[in-house]
Amino acid sequence: MCYFDHQLWPCGWWKWGNFREQCPKEYRTGETCGLKLIFNTYLEPEPCKMCDQIDKKQRRLNKMMEDVRRWRNEGNRRATIEKTETEMRALNSQIGTMWVEHEARKNAISY
Ligand SMILES: [Zn+2]
Repeated sequence: MCYFDHQLWPCGWWKWGNFREQCPKEYRTGETCGLKLIFNTYLEPEPCKMCDQIDKKQRRLNKMMEDVRRWRNEGNRRATIEKTETEMRALNSQIGTMWVEHEARKNAISY
């Protein structure tokens, strides 16, 4: 069991940081035995990178939704609306995939 720093984001996302201390079972210098234990947890004040990306995509999606609503009222924009709706579906599924990854990461024991 070797000790590592641990970074934790407010949303529950985390990652291993620097290697801190070797355990007595490991005799090779600079090597780790493969079982990581937390030496220190550092709380990150900002949202994690993934939340940030999800947020950006979500905002783009909201913007598109507003545009489509406006174009519907204006009429005569069917081609643009269809094109945007295709993009929205793609964006929506990307956001879904990212959330699944994000949640999986939160519950993972090690990476
Ligand atoms: Zn996050």
